[in-house]
Formats: sequence, C-alpha cells, structure tokens
Amino acid sequence: QTIPANLAETVRRWPDRDALVESFTGRRWTWAEFATDVDRVARALLALGLTKGDRLGIWSPNSAEWTLTQYATARIGVIAVNINPAYRTHELSYALNQSGCVAVVASPAYKTSDYPAMIESVRQNVPSLRHVVITDDESWREFLAGADGVDAGEAERIAATLRPEDPINIQYTSGTTGHPKGATLSHRNILNNGYFTTERIGFTEQDKLVIAPPFYHCFGMVMGNLGCTSHGATMIIPSPSFDPAASLQAVHDERATALYGVPTMFIAELTLPNFADYDLSSLRTGIMAGSPCPVEVMKRVMTEMHMSEVSIAYGMTETSPVSTQTGGDDDVERRTATVGRVHPHVEIKIIDPASGEVVPRGEVGEFCTRGYSVMLGYWDEPEKTAEAVDADGWMHTGDLGMMRPDGYVTINGRIKDMVIRGGENIYPREIEEFLYTHPKIADVQVVGVPDEKYGEELCAFVQLRDGENELSAEDVAAFSEGKLARFKIPRYVLVVDEFPMTVTGKIRKVEMRADAAQQLG
Ligand code: ATP
Ligand code: MG
Repeated sequence: QTIPANLAETVRRWPDRDALVESFTGRRWTWAEFATDVDRVARALLALGLTKGDRLGIWSPNSAEWTLTQYATARIGVIAVNINPAYRTHELSYALNQSGCVAVVASPAYKTSDYPAMIESVRQNVPSLRHVVITDDESWREFLAGADGVDAGEAERIAATLRPEDPINIQYTSGTTGHPKGATLSHRNILNNGYFTTERIGFTEQDKLVIAPPFYHCFGMVMGNLGCTSHGATMIIPSPSFDPAASLQAVHDERATALYGVPTMFIAELTLPNFADYDLSSLRTGIMAGSPCPVEVMKRVMTEMHMSEVSIAYGMTETSPVSTQTGGDDDVERRTATVGRVHPHVEIKIIDPASGEVVPRGEVGEFCTRGYSVMLGYWDEPEKTAEAVDADGWMHTGDLGMMRPDGYVTINGRIKDMVIRGGENIYPREIEEFLYTHPKIADVQVVGVPDEKYGEELCAFVQLRDGENELSAEDVAAFSEGKLARFKIPRYVLVVDEFPMTVTGKIRKVEMRADAAQQLG
C-alpha cells in the first residue's frame, strides 16, 4: 500500500496556495505558513515534555488551533484524543482517564463562569493530566513561546522515526448506540483513507472545501482535513460548531467548490429562510455521510446547491472511516440510492449474521470489511475489540447492507434498529425514504415500539415543512395505501420539532424508541 502525499509533499508542491481558512475570523494560512505553525506547535508540545506515544486530548469545537494541534501531534508521534466538545466534567474526565491523557488542549469557548471550576475538577479527577493548554490568544501565545527552547530540527527528527502502523489518534465513536468507544487509528489508517476519499471525488489543488462536520469526528478531521492536505485543496472552517448560515456564507465568500455534511446539516441549509441569498454556483461536489442519506435530499442538493457530483460515503470510526463511496461518473440513480462501490485496497462482504456465510448479491445481511483501514483496536478494551474484529481481520460493522448485482452497495440500517413486526423484518430506512416523498414532511425517523400483539409496531417521528402544523397517522396511512405493504405503514405518527441528536449530528434512535414507548405505552 502506498502512503500518498503527506503534508511535507503538499508544502513542497504548493507552498503559496491557501491551506487553511477560518472564515468566521478571517484568519488564513498558505501551506508554507501552515507547516511552519504546525512545527511550532509540535515543538511547544515537546517543550511541555510530551513524547512519542503520550496521549493529548483535544476538547474543542472546530478551530484553526484544532487543526494545527492535529498535525503537530502526528508529527511527533503523540496520540491525539478527540473529545466531544459537548462533554462536561464527568464525561471529560472519563475520556481523559480512559485514554490516560497527559495534556489537554481546551477551547476558550468554555470560558464560562464555571470554567475554572471545571478545569480544577478535571485536574483532580485525572491523575495522569499534567498540562491544560487553553487556546485563547494569550494562553496560546504563551504556550507557543515554549517552542523557542526546543531545537529547530527536533520535531522533524522525531517525524523521521515514526512508522505507518504507529497509533496517531484515538477517536471516540459517536455514541449513537451506547457508550462511545475509543477507536485507535494509525498513520496508515487515516492518511490513506483521507487520500482515497477525496481521490474518489476528483479533488485537486484547485478545490476549496467547507468543512461543516466537527473535527472531533473522522468526517471532519480525516475526510476533511487529511482529504484536503493529500491533494493540496483548501480546508475552510465555517464556524466553531455547525451553523447552516455560516456554512453557506463560507461557500459564497470563498467561492468554495465542495461542501461536507451529515444529512441533517444539508437539510438545515436547504431550509434556511434566506437560502436564495447565497451564491452557491461555485460548488461542484461534496460528501454526505454519517447516517442514511435520503434520496430526496440528495436530489435537492444536486440541483438547488449545484452539487451535481455530490458523493455518498459509508463508513465508521473503526474503519478510518470510509469503506464505500460513490463518485466518478456514477449516474444519478447510483449516486442517490446507493453508498457506492468499495474503496481501493479494502475488501467487503455481506454475511448472514447467524451463520457467518456470505449471502448472494441482492440479499440483505451484515456488512463486514477488511483491509488497511481497520482500526488497531479499541483503546484498552481488548474484549470489545475481539467482538468487533474477528480472527481473520474482518470488522463486523453491525450495519445491514446489500450488494446489488452491479456491485454497488446499499446500507439498509443498523441491525439494532431493525424492527420485527409479527415475524416480518422491517428496515425503517425503506419507510423513511418513502415518507420523505410526502408533501408535508420535512424530515422523518421511523422506530419500533413494543406491541403486545405483533411484538413491535412502527412509529414515525416527523418534522413538518414550514407552514404545516398537523399530520395524523390516518393521513399517513391514506398516503401510503397501495404504495407500501400494509405491515410497513406506521401505526403511530408523532409530530416533533426536533430529533434527539449526538454532537456529530446523528439521530439517537435509542432515545426515540424510549420516547415513543413512553408516550404511546
Ligand atoms: P456508536 O458506535 O458509538 O454507537 P456510531 O456508530 O454512530 O456510534 P460512527 O462511527 O460515527 O459512530 O458512525 C458510523 C455509523 O454511521 C455506521 O456504522 C452506520 O450505521 C452509519 N453510517 C455512516 N455512513 C452512512 C451512510 N452513508 N448511510 C447509512 N448509514 C451510515
Ligand atoms: Mg458504531
């Protein structure tokens, strides 16, 4: 396997092109400037006494300092631990302790009144923690000044000793289905994945990408940052945490060619009241990923946002993350209805979870993947690693997938979300896709609720389009009659303003199931 263009190579080829733009502050770096600052942060970390293999937590919304820290740690073999910026003392201490962090980089966004108390309590609860670096102007400048005491060539010397299989990053999974797990990833894992992801959407140094997803997750830091770096494209940070208006403003101001987001982010952008005020004509491509991407939303993104080459990627933190992706000259049907084809140097198979046998093409089973992209393991949780990755190296994803006869893959939901009603397997995904075509529905999620007669019944949570304020189960049944098999028509419809979400923008169906059971029980 090749390790494609790294930062040094990109700096050599395009020193004066834009590397990083923080559009909400106006700060900008060329590749040459970016590399200089990365080296400075790396030496400042060395000055604190950090050494190869140490863990450093990053507890911050998106910022240039996040990105600089990401590259600086990688340069000196320090393992960056991505910490959900929404975490407060209890969860923050857990993550820092679980991974044994010796330092944490924290954002001034948390300089709220209780901030000193929070930091104090974390210091007390995390015995391994020696340094807290805060990214406000003054503290950051002070931290950077430490670099002066370290040899100019020191970070470079350490970089030369690193091996592709060394761990570089501990990424906690989204926690959609339970407690987040610390997937440990190597340089080989994420550098390659970033490269192959943007390779599939034809990135060159001319591309400028607005990165709306959080860096705390692979989507932002691997597919976004590393995906840009490997091709010399520009990384644009539109806002610290997701803001639909700021994302479109960044596209408009920077004439960006690409935009990333989870489906709910694109929905929020498309439904902005002043959507028409943004000039999005510079957009060409982008990636929608992270959760099921509704065909209707994809079509609107392709036309209304000019992203005719928008790509769907499927993957998970544990696989660095992408396994399959659309791109190239895929037609509209494949581009909107599938998660594309397998990535280079990666194997996939769809199995019957009970027998472990590969199922024929066209049948639904568990999606498994193997190759360079599979994580080193869950940090300090060998039993969980063994449950997820089998002895032959296959990652069992817990996702339901199907390989079509043409080799394109569909993701049909999570095994845990499958509803079994009166012995029939129902994939909520299929029903959600159908309900998106209802004129009153803006967004919809379908879950199973316990039922005495059938074991489970379907409940649809819907968000209505602007101007609509009512939708009953009878309306939905009338709309579905003759189009969906009766057993797939949701028995219950609950109108809501929002869905419970994780910070990465994923919908927490576990919580919705509990809500539905409570409201309807
Ligand atoms: P946890 O593992 O902690 O419960 P999580 O699985 O949501 O959380 P991630 O690694 O962020 O954590 O997300 C990976 C999952 O997201 C995949 O296993 C899959 O269920 C879903 N997913 C990702 N991309 C797609 C896609 N394009 N279509 C459908 N589902 C997707
Ligand atoms: Mg998962």
